[in-house]
Amino acid sequence: MASSTVENYLKAILHLQGEGASGTTVGEIAKELEVTPGTVTIMMRHLKDRGLISYEPRRGLSLLPSGRVEALKVVRRHRLIESFLVEVMSLDWSEVHEEAEILEHVISDRLLDRMDKMLGEPTHDPHGDPIPDRNGVIAENTAQPLLEVAAGEYRVVRVSDDDPALLGWLNEKGLRIGEEFRLTHPDRAAGLLELARRGGERLQLGFQVAGRVFVEAV
Ligand SMILES: [Zn+2]
Repeated sequence: MASSTVENYLKAILHLQGEGASGTTVGEIAKELEVTPGTVTIMMRHLKDRGLISYEPRRGLSLLPSGRVEALKVVRRHRLIESFLVEVMSLDWSEVHEEAEILEHVISDRLLDRMDKMLGEPTHDPHGDPIPDRNGVIAENTAQPLLEVAAGEYRVVRVSDDDPALLGWLNEKGLRIGEEFRLTHPDRAAGLLELARRGGERLQLGFQVAGRVFVEAV
């Protein structure tokens, strides 16, 4: 089994099981990775044999501590690479995810360390996602999707990193990580939210965008 394949599965399980201890399922992993459940089942037996996950057919499956460490290493590589591509190589934040998906499996620890130092050991990537430290400790994510919050004052802390169209749209509107605004009219019936920006400008967002922009109250 190619190590990049194993790494992608571990990363998917980490993502799907989230912070909770409830674990995930073969069906969810199949959907996430766009493969058949049969393919996932074969891989789950392999990961179980390697002591990376706990897995009982027809029950939940979740990462064991060693699997979580491995998954967090891939996440660290992914996010540091994205940071490097934006900060040092001046790529746009809408074009770095796909590159990081490839490079995260091949970069050496030595090179990664060097990049980390050049960047000043950042704690968050360009999309606002926390970067696990070298011991696999990661800041908890408490941001909520803009779609789910009530009217009030908020700050953008994170956006989904895997949708170039969304990131391009945010570029067009100049909406960045750290911007503060007031959510004025969450019009659920019309499927639209309206933000009042600090400069006085109004910005309307569809629900699809609002589900992928994460905020915290200010
Ligand atoms: Zn990414």
